[in-house]
Amino acid sequence: MGEKETSLPPQGEPELITKVGSLQELLEKASGVRAVVDQGMEDAGLAENIPFPFLALVGQNQMKLALLLSLLNPNLGGVLLIGPRGTGKSTAVRSLVDLLPESRRSLCYYGCLEEDVESGGIDAVCPDCAKKYGQGEPLSKLEKVRLVELPLNATLEDVVGGVDPRAQGHARLRLKRGILSRADRNLLYVDEVNLLNDQIVDAILDAASQGQYTVRRGAVSATYRSHFTLIGSMNPEEGNLRPQIMDRFGLRVVVKGLENKEDRMEAYRRTRSYKENNRAFSAAYAPATRLFREEIQASREKLPSVKLPEEVAATGLELIQKLELDSLRAEITLFEAARAHAAADARDQVTADDLRVVAPMALRLRRSTYIDQYIADQSSETETLEDAVNELIPLDEPEEDV
Ligand SMILES: [Zn+2]
Repeated sequence: MGEKETSLPPQGEPELITKVGSLQELLEKASGVRAVVDQGMEDAGLAENIPFPFLALVGQNQMKLALLLSLLNPNLGGVLLIGPRGTGKSTAVRSLVDLLPESRRSLCYYGCLEEDVESGGIDAVCPDCAKKYGQGEPLSKLEKVRLVELPLNATLEDVVGGVDPRAQGHARLRLKRGILSRADRNLLYVDEVNLLNDQIVDAILDAASQGQYTVRRGAVSATYRSHFTLIGSMNPEEGNLRPQIMDRFGLRVVVKGLENKEDRMEAYRRTRSYKENNRAFSAAYAPATRLFREEIQASREKLPSVKLPEEVAATGLELIQKLELDSLRAEITLFEAARAHAAADARDQVTADDLRVVAPMALRLRRSTYIDQYIADQSSETETLEDAVNELIPLDEPEEDV
């Protein structure tokens, strides 16, 4: 953070990442990456949804690091991004779909997978899939990870699923899949999580922490897998999140606008290039994105072997004690995030340095007093803003058009 030491490369000069030592190194380089976009290329149109490349996001290193750690280690409990509108929260979340490896997806409406049969027997899938399985046909195919966004007006029934009035017979058929089961192996993004009803937020957080959930409707019940990376975002000016709910998110990042003028200018340029031709813009970052995805995959595979030495754990516990945090989730998130951070650096052991990096995002806003303070700060910020506007743009200037 702070002022840039080196000046920006001249415009149009390629400075793409071609090889990388570790995911961390790449993340550090990422903000400085400048891609050349061929402006002459024809616009692909709006039909295709091409996310803004993660590596083209300027600054916001805390947010980027938190999102990456949550991709590496689903056990850390997801991420909550807290900040005003227009700070790139949604853009960053949507860009993550390009960073995850493909995963197996069911070909069937009921979401049956081969592993359901392997773990729960032939009755764990619908009759059609049971037949297919018997004949050695695939029940799933490899597909790109998707971003499942929870609509703000979703009901609890939409979220967990409910009775399908059209279906009869086989138990699995009588329940409709909910958004949570469609989020399995994907990213679940809950924007404006502070405006959702508590029951729904609880259902989402339960499913996320257990990796599965059961729906019961009368005599019928079904259990669905729900292994997903949960990402929430909220604008605290629009309403608070109950401290108990806030506590259930693993990492929390307070996202602010870019502070440095050059960064803001660069972010503006990139956003403009992307809007002019999103396909060309994305293509310019594709080689670096591919490398990044491979690093993420390697780090995910490394994670199970990353150990937390006792003396490092003791330091972490001391820190939590010093901050007077009661929640057990504090150490779970702190240690799981530290393990992910070590894996990203291709190490087998967590060090105190890993703790230092992840502690702010793992431990911030775990006490309700801080949350109240944060909301209070927001209103004082509004005053500061009004003062600055009044100073720089005095009201008595002649009005041309507004
Ligand atoms: Zn099926």
